[in-house]
Amino acid sequence: MSTDADRVEPQRSKARQLPSLGLVDRFDRPMRDLRISVTDRCNFRCVYCMPKKVFGRDYSFLDRNELLSFEEIERVARISAAHGVRKIRLTGGEPLLRRGIEGLIERLAALRTPEGERLEIALTTNGSALAVKAAALKAAGLDRVTVSIDSLDDELFQSINDVRFPVSRVLDGIDAAHQAGLGPIKLNMVVKRGVNDGEILDMAAHFKDTPFTLRFIEFMDVGTTNGWSLDEVVPSSEIIERIGAVFPLEQIAPVVPGEVAKRWRYRDGGGEVGVISSVTNAFCGTCNRARISTEGKLFTCLFADEGHDLRALLRGGADDAELASAMASIWGARDDRYSEIRSELTPGLRQARNRIEMSYIGG
Ligand code: SAM
Ligand code: SF4
Ligand code: SF4
Repeated sequence: MSTDADRVEPQRSKARQLPSLGLVDRFDRPMRDLRISVTDRCNFRCVYCMPKKVFGRDYSFLDRNELLSFEEIERVARISAAHGVRKIRLTGGEPLLRRGIEGLIERLAALRTPEGERLEIALTTNGSALAVKAAALKAAGLDRVTVSIDSLDDELFQSINDVRFPVSRVLDGIDAAHQAGLGPIKLNMVVKRGVNDGEILDMAAHFKDTPFTLRFIEFMDVGTTNGWSLDEVVPSSEIIERIGAVFPLEQIAPVVPGEVAKRWRYRDGGGEVGVISSVTNAFCGTCNRARISTEGKLFTCLFADEGHDLRALLRGGADDAELASAMASIWGARDDRYSEIRSELTPGLRQARNRIEMSYIGG
């Protein structure tokens, strides 16, 4: 069923272009970062993302012809680059499950900005296939990977991924990615109180003095299937306090505008950690991320309840100018700041909304 948000009107672009920023939204936020979900499938069933009771045997994933093809993704990415996108991140589901992903990476690596620069191409993965694929991904043109790893305790790790996948294979994958030159590598740990918050210090100690940057992510209320509750969120401030009590830390300035992680460095020179405070310290003011879902809907916020159907345009014969105009009008109308207004949402309202799942849109 088509909704207002679905309807895309290519001819009515009122989007503004600021000379230094390219396309901007209603709050002057540029579109810099494009996250593309290449599959809604995953070989893990992380309890906070794809719980088995929802994503079980009977769950119907998208058919192949519903996914955007590599040609379609390349077209959207090319137009996005003309609108100001400088970085593309492939995600999912588990992006390494998409057959021939290297071919997509080759196409994206060949794109250029209006100034003739190549885009940065990154990928977020659960790491399960990295040991096998890292070298081919690098050869195809991938710049960097971010690997999700929620615990070093094998029993706990297996209970979180819920498919008995051993943490040692993810660690092997991280090493393979490092050997292949897919760095700097970031590691994401979603922290859930009472589940893996006891692992914070072990994780920090393990990855201190390594080339990897560990980032702690507050458990978010994405989707409607992960049974989110504020009590399970460990605020970033607490995480920094806990680590800092053992390994003294100092905050450092962001390198890139719109960077979501707050960065802290070990005072003894042992590298840095990051915290992503999506719940306790919203960063909507600088949010420059657009997201394309697996079947080609453009979402201007991770917490949007509906996306804009670009696939209908792509398959309906729209030319590049129409597609560019449609994307410009969607971004130009953007006024999302969900995290900033989250505190105003009542539990009743939360239930009423039809929010998208993390496994569908990617992180
Ligand atoms: N499968 C890949 C992976 O796990 O890295 C890519 C997709 S996954 C949806 C992207 C990121 O979202 C992962 O780092 C995952 O831990 C994070 N994530 C999923 N559900 C989350 C939630 N409720 N709160 C915070 N982060 C979440
Ligand atoms: Fe799969 Fe990533 Fe979600 Fe875990 S977080 S279920 S690995 S998509
Ligand atoms: Fe961006 Fe939406 Fe997250 Fe705010 S809530 S930071 S607008 S994705």
